[in-house]
Amino acid sequence: MELLRPSSAEEAAAALGNGSVALAGGTDLVPLLRDRLVRADTLVHVSAAVPRGIDGPTIGAGTTLAELEADTQIPQALREACSLAASPQLRAMGTIGGNLLQATRCWYWRLGFECWLHGGEKCFARDGAHREHAIFGNERCASAHPSDVAAALVALGARVRTTKRELSVAELYRLPTQDDRGITTLDTDELILELEVPSAETSTYLKAMDRRKWAFPLVGVAAARSHGETRIALAGVAPIPWRVESAASLEDATPLPGTAYKVEIARALIRRALAAIDRTAASPG
Ligand SMILES: Cc1cc2nc3c(=O)[nH]c(=O)nc-3n(C[C@H](O)[C@H](O)[C@H](O)COP(=O)(O)OP(=O)(O)OC[C@H]3O[C@@H](n4cnc5c(N)ncnc54)[C@H](O)[C@@H]3O)c2cc1C
Ligand code: SF4
Repeated sequence: MELLRPSSAEEAAAALGNGSVALAGGTDLVPLLRDRLVRADTLVHVSAAVPRGIDGPTIGAGTTLAELEADTQIPQALREACSLAASPQLRAMGTIGGNLLQATRCWYWRLGFECWLHGGEKCFARDGAHREHAIFGNERCASAHPSDVAAALVALGARVRTTKRELSVAELYRLPTQDDRGITTLDTDELILELEVPSAETSTYLKAMDRRKWAFPLVGVAAARSHGETRIALAGVAPIPWRVESAASLEDATPLPGTAYKVEIARALIRRALAAIDRTAASPG
């Protein structure tokens, strides 16, 4: 396998596609390469090609989660989502660009089952063990999107700048279809360069997990208020980050037998998150 280290975004994007894959911190990709779940002829290391750092609302895709959680310019929901993700070591290596594009944690795929999302015929989770899986958008693939950070960015109304276009973080994701089983709208030769994160009047991120640390979200709830509007987005409940209007939207959930408990967790966390942002909005200073 070849390793390239391009020094510009243009050079990096030109090297992508046709069996070449972008590598940032490697915390998600390297184990997948080791386990042969992802194959690549060439790795394109993007650390010198994509921006890193925080400048007001602009965040370079190469900025680590550790840098984000420590910076007071960053809205609270995003800081909290970063600080609750993974472990300190992983947050020191893992970038925000890589976090948004991390692969599903569904254990069937991670254990080598050729399942529907990866070109097979069947979603093994729907009939098998699926305690950590989805309650929305789970008709074909019941995986649960693992990114705390993506949910926070969707609630905050953040936008992404890539080597090809600008779009909202919500538009970065799509539910997989029979013809296109990807869960993002990013092309294979497209790089995330920067994020634009508007400030919120108040925001928060709450997370239910199996352990108090170093665990993916069973349910994550991000809520952000700006210009009088409150936006809520959930992690761990659908194959992609999932927006809901309110706790009442949970009536539309389609849980599997083993994931019904997530509906109740989401209901409780949404109420708590909304109460928290009401309290913050009401308190002076
Ligand atoms: C044990 C463990 C626990 C974790 N727990 C959590 C958690 O609780 N919550 C959570 O949100 N996350 C969690 N994570 C995910 C972790 O945050 C991500 O692995 C990390 O942020 C990925 O960043 P990276 O720079 O290492 O990406 P890489 O592993 O280098 O890349 C990941 C993917 O992104 C692509 N990529 C990277 N940068 C770009 C770019 N600029 N443009 C286009 N494509 C790009 C790569 O091609 C690859 O497909 C956990 C990970 C591990 C291993
Ligand atoms: S939930 Fe998705 S990733 Fe998991 S087995 Fe089903 S199709 Fe595959």
